[in-house]
Amino acid sequence: MERIEIETGQSTELIDITGKVKEIVKTKNKSGNLDSGICVVFTRHTTSGIIINENETGLKSDILAFLNELIPKGKGYLHDKIDNNARSHLRAVVLGSSVTIPIEKGGLTLGTWQSIFFVECDGPRRREVYVTVIKE
Ligand code: ZN
Repeated sequence: MERIEIETGQSTELIDITGKVKEIVKTKNKSGNLDSGICVVFTRHTTSGIIINENETGLKSDILAFLNELIPKGKGYLHDKIDNNARSHLRAVVLGSSVTIPIEKGGLTLGTWQSIFFVECDGPRRREVYVTVIKE
């Protein structure tokens, strides 16, 4: 298991971590014996998510706008009485906390337009993402 540390700068944002995940898989395949397997990318936080989608500026804004529309502010969420960030948790619920990517010939089998994003829902914060590579 390897760790990616992320320092987020906004309250909500998408951060492309594809390059970092690819680098980890490459390192694990140094000896060339990682032909087939899976890579799990997992966020350790309850107010962030991991998704796979296209890294296009307009789409990234659309995704954040969509989340804002889906989960509006001030709906009387009970958790807001505790630490006033129920919205952030609910966005994380919708996004999910991990993705699994098959590995073939020692590399991620991402499609042409697929990128791996860490999604900040309650920033700015220091975050940790775990990357586990399992050989088949
Ligand atoms: Zn909370």
